[in-house]
Amino acid sequence: MAEPTQIADIVSLTTLTPHTTELVLRPIEHPLSFKPGQWISLQLPVGDHPPLNRAYSLAEPPSSTGHLTLVFDHVPGGKGSSYLSSLKPGDRLPLSGPYGHFVLPEPESQHLLLIGRYSGLVPLRCMLRSLALQDSLPSTTLIAQAPHAAEQLYHDEFMALAARHSTFRYLPFICVTPEGHDETVDAIKQLAGNGRQVTPMIAGIKSFARPLRALFVELGFDRREVKLETYD
Ligand SMILES: Cc1cc2nc3c(=O)[nH]c(=O)nc-3n(C[C@H](O)[C@H](O)[C@H](O)COP(=O)(O)OP(=O)(O)OC[C@H]3O[C@@H](n4cnc5c(N)ncnc54)[C@H](O)[C@@H]3O)c2cc1C
Repeated sequence: MAEPTQIADIVSLTTLTPHTTELVLRPIEHPLSFKPGQWISLQLPVGDHPPLNRAYSLAEPPSSTGHLTLVFDHVPGGKGSSYLSSLKPGDRLPLSGPYGHFVLPEPESQHLLLIGRYSGLVPLRCMLRSLALQDSLPSTTLIAQAPHAAEQLYHDEFMALAARHSTFRYLPFICVTPEGHDETVDAIKQLAGNGRQVTPMIAGIKSFARPLRALFVELGFDRREVKLETYD
C-alpha cells in the first residue's frame, strides 16, 4: 500500500565531509515511525518531469523530537542531490515513507557483518546507533569504505563506538573506486569464510554491493542470506 505523502520543514543542513551533507527534516502533519535501515522518499520539484522521487536512508533512529535525519552525497551533476544542497532551513519538502526491508534481523543471533561504502554507511549507522542504546552491543563488525580519507563518514563516531564496546569492530578502508578492493575482500574472507556464522548486510551503489554479494555466495552463503540495499 502506498504510504501517505506529507510536508516536512527543513530544520538544518550540516556539512559532514567535503562532499556529504546531513539534512534534518520535521514532518509537520504526523510523526513517522520507522525501523533503523529503512528509507523515505523525497519528492523534489526538479527534473524533466517533476516531481523527481529520490530515496534517502534514515541516519538516526526514531527520537522524541520526531526529526528525520538524512545524509546525502553530492553526486556530480546529480539533479536530486544538487537540489538538496540548495535548500535552507525553513524550506519545505513533500515526503513519504518509511519503506524498505533492509532492517536488522531479530534477534541478532549471529555475528553481524555490516559493509558500506560512503553514503551507503547511512542505514548501517542508524542500525548501530539503535543497537548501541542497548546495554551491550551484539557482536558486530563494520567494514566502512570511503573514496578518500576526507570522506570517511562518521569515522570519529565509529572509532569511539569501538573504543566503548569490545563487541564492536570497526574496519575503515580507503578505496577510490567502488569495486575490487583487496583489503575489503580479505577482511570478508577472514570474517565469513570457512563456514563462519555471520549475517552480512551490504549497502551502497551496485558496483560496490553486487560483487561483494557474489563473494559471499562463493564463500558458501545462500544469495538470500546476504541482505543488500543498493542506491542506483
Ligand atoms: C533505498 C535507497 C536508499 C538511498 N539512500 C541514500 C542515502 O542515504 N544517501 C544518499 O546520498 N543517497 C541515497 N540513495 C540514492 C539517492 O536516492 C539518489 O539516487 C542519489 O542522491 C543520486 O540522485 P541524483 O538525482 O543526485 O543523481 P542522478 O542524476 O540520479 O545520478 C545517479 C548516478 O550517480 C552515481 N551515484 C553516486 N553517488 C550515488 C548515490 N549516493 N546514490 C545513487 N547514485 C549515486 C550513480 O552511479 C548513478 O549513476 C538511496 C537510494 C535508494 C534506492
